[in-house]
This record gives sequence, C-alpha cells and structure tokens, in this order.
Amino acid sequence: SWGSLSDKPVYDWSSEEEEPDGRARPIQVLLVKDDHTFELDEAALSRILLSAEVRDREVVAISVAGAFRKGKSFLMDFMLRYMYNHASEGWLGVADEPLTGFSWRGGSERETTGIQIWSEVFLVDKPDGTKAAVLLMDTQGTFDSQSTLRDSATVFALSTMISSMQVYNISQNVQEDDLQHLQLFTEYGRLAMEETFLKPFQSMIFLVRDWSFPYEFPYGQEGGMNFLEKRLKISENQHEELQNVRKHIHSCFTNISCFLMPHPGLKVATNPNFDGRIKEIDGEFINNLKVLVPWLLSPENIDVKEINGSKITCRGLLEYFKAYIKIYQG
Ligand code: GDP
Ligand code: MG
Repeated sequence: SWGSLSDKPVYDWSSEEEEPDGRARPIQVLLVKDDHTFELDEAALSRILLSAEVRDREVVAISVAGAFRKGKSFLMDFMLRYMYNHASEGWLGVADEPLTGFSWRGGSERETTGIQIWSEVFLVDKPDGTKAAVLLMDTQGTFDSQSTLRDSATVFALSTMISSMQVYNISQNVQEDDLQHLQLFTEYGRLAMEETFLKPFQSMIFLVRDWSFPYEFPYGQEGGMNFLEKRLKISENQHEELQNVRKHIHSCFTNISCFLMPHPGLKVATNPNFDGRIKEIDGEFINNLKVLVPWLLSPENIDVKEINGSKITCRGLLEYFKAYIKIYQG
C-alpha cells in the first residue's frame, strides 16, 4: 500500500518559495551559473530532506538525466502522476487532463544546467514492511560545447552519486558518444568518492526514446536488455578505446538495464499547443508508459540509496550532497 504526503505540506515553505496555492513544485537545488560555478540551495534542500516526516526514513532517490529537449520532464510528470495516484490501476489519469509538474513545454524557456527536485517527498510502504522516502530528481545538461560538457559532467556525476537509480535519457539509439559521455561523467563521480571494493553506483537505466527498430529489438525492458547487451559487449577485435568504455561502465554500476520507448507521436513532438493530455499521445507510447513507470517506481522495484554498502536516510543524503558539492567547488 502507498502513503504520500500529498494532503499536507512537507515543510514550512519559506516566503520566497511558497506557491500561491501552497502546492508542491520543482525546486532548483543545484544551479550551474554562467561563469561555470555551482550554486547549491542548501536551505531549500534542507527544508525538503529534513522535514520531520522524512528525515529519518531510508531514501530512494530517482534521477532522470541527459541532454535538453529529450522528454525528461515530460516523463517525470507521469512519474509524479503514478506517485500521487498511489500506484492505483488508473494512475495515468483521464484522457484530456493537461500534464503538470516539472515544466516540460520549455520552448522559450532559458536553458539551465543543474538539478531540480520535487518539493514533495513520497512515503512508500515497501513489501518488506519498511517505509521509504522517495525523492524525484530532474537533471539537465547541455552537452554541446567543451565548456558546458564539463558542467554537464559534474551535474551528471553528482546526480549519479546522490541517486539510487539513474535514468539516462537518450534519443533514438545508444551511440558511441552516449557511452563516452557516460564514462566521462562516472569518472568525475568516481574520483570524488572514497575508494571502495564495492561498485560505486547502484542502478543505471538506459532509457532510449523514439526507438524506431522494434522489429529488431521490441519496445520495453526485455528488448532493451537484449539490445544493450549487444551494445555493451566487449570483444577482442574491438578497438581498445571501445573496450575500455564498456569495462568502465560495467565496473561502475551494480545494475545496468535498458528500456526502449516508442515515439510519442507528432502532436507531442511538434505541436506547440500540446498540453500533455494523453488522448493526443500515441497509444503505443502510452502502453509502454504503463509498463515503464511501474517498472521504475513500484514499491517492489525501488531500491534504497546505499553508500559504501550502508543504507542512507534523507538526513544522510543531505550530508553527502553537501560534501560532494564541496569537492567540485574546490
Ligand atoms: P527535457 O528538456 O529533456 O526535460 O524535455 P521536455 O520534457 O521538456 O520535452 C521537450 C519536448 O519534447 C516537448 O515538446 C515534449 O512534448 C517533447 N517530448 C516529450 N517526450 C518525447 C519523446 O519521447 N519523444 C519526442 N520526440 N518528443 C518528446
Ligand atoms: Mg526538462
């Protein structure tokens, strides 16, 4: 069974953060500024992670990361629907309800690099009888020039270090440069962490959007796993560089998986007036969304954040967040 805090505020909103209606919203906790320095909104992060209901709960931190304009926030809003509707049968909602939450129609919005978290932390009853606090993070990067690649690498590294599940959102295919980026990002993260015999990170999910070869590898998790196995395969006749990228990725994560998502249809991709109502989204996309979101978020499937083999609470996560950011501010 599910419990959430949706009917009461998680913490006392400070005046500058309060929404007029007092509802939950995305909070920019990490911002990369124009001069490439990092700004952590420690006060906002503390208010979220130290609220009385959650601070001593073990934390499940789910992050979606990747380049801009690839449908991350759009997906996160469906994840919010699932959380708010307590994973019930009809969690997806009615056909003509606009999609809200993290802002995703960002056509004219200025692009920021950083991390946003949802101000509401969800309490979930796990099958083992424990209650976990689920935190949703939306991570943005630019990946377009050398200087911003470094910023993006740091943001990606931080979100990977902080999360128990990193969803790497990529478009159309898993290209060699997607893997190279991942190597760079995780190398940034690994350097900042203590040496340990354990793999430094938990779950990595390659989420391929607009997958267009379902006849080769079907949509979903099984097709994704078969596809990824092929892409991450190490063979002797491969160039050394290609082998190293693959070895590195295998050495960083305890779990690696992949999900192939179909294209959501032209209304979603091109119509500026589209507001997220599901009746305008391709049925194939919706069918796969119904599989993907519970696969990521159901109480059976979520994993508590562990660092060096120990489970972490919200309070602990805040301390790690602060310590890690210091390394990059260095
Ligand atoms: P983000 O910058 O990665 O968070 O991307 P957004 O969620 O803001 O979405 C950017 C644009 O892509 C919006 O116009 C969405 O309607 C559209 N979009 C959302 N999901 C998909 C998808 O799976 N494929 C395509 N082609 N477009 C999508
Ligand atoms: Mg976004």
